[in-house]
Amino acid sequence: MTQTKNGGSSRPIPRRPRVRHGLVIVNTGEGKGKTTAALGVIFRAWGRDFQIRMFQFIKHTGARFGEQRAAQKLNIPIESLGDGFTWLSKDMDRTEALAVEQWHRCKDAILEGKEDIIVLDEFTYALHYGWVPVVDAVDTLQRRPDDLHVIITGRYAPQELIDCADLVTEMKLIKHPYEEKGIRAQQGIEF
Ligand code: ATP
Ligand code: MG
Repeated sequence: MTQTKNGGSSRPIPRRPRVRHGLVIVNTGEGKGKTTAALGVIFRAWGRDFQIRMFQFIKHTGARFGEQRAAQKLNIPIESLGDGFTWLSKDMDRTEALAVEQWHRCKDAILEGKEDIIVLDEFTYALHYGWVPVVDAVDTLQRRPDDLHVIITGRYAPQELIDCADLVTEMKLIKHPYEEKGIRAQQGIEF
């Protein structure tokens, strides 16, 4: 059924958003806010009834941070596949295998194009560490449907990804409460 503005004969409001220019958006850099900015777009797009899907690399499978809790309430799928990799990770082969598996899921979703926005959170690490070939990522992005937005976050975005993107933002670290005052990550701010 078509929605109308005042329930009467005014102009019909389309139920599905009309995405015209699908963008490749990259949030990179040393400062905080890369994932938060992607979540901000998701929040905005959700308000426009976009179909949204978010894939998280690195973060533990089944992570229950604030964003996963909110997404569940808003019915936005966030799929995390990782082992919480840090530079202290012991089993790098497993970390890499999980990233490659997650990439194959992302690739299928990007080429299938069922969603309006797909977010690949922390994907740049998979490229930076050579787990996923940059040419494969760039080729997939170039072959995606014209109206699909893809947002990629994480530090060390490779130049080839920056070259193929439409919108690239570098978060610049000026102050961080951990470095300034030793204040650790907090609920609602970091997770
Ligand atoms: P956010 O998810 O908060 O938007 P981000 O995606 O930009 O952050 P990541 O590189 O994913 O940042 O970093 C993950 C966490 O590391 C963040 O919660 C952030 O607060 C923390 N962090 C970032 N920079 C620093 C720093 N200089 N010192 C300590 N912790 C940091
Ligand atoms: Mg992040």
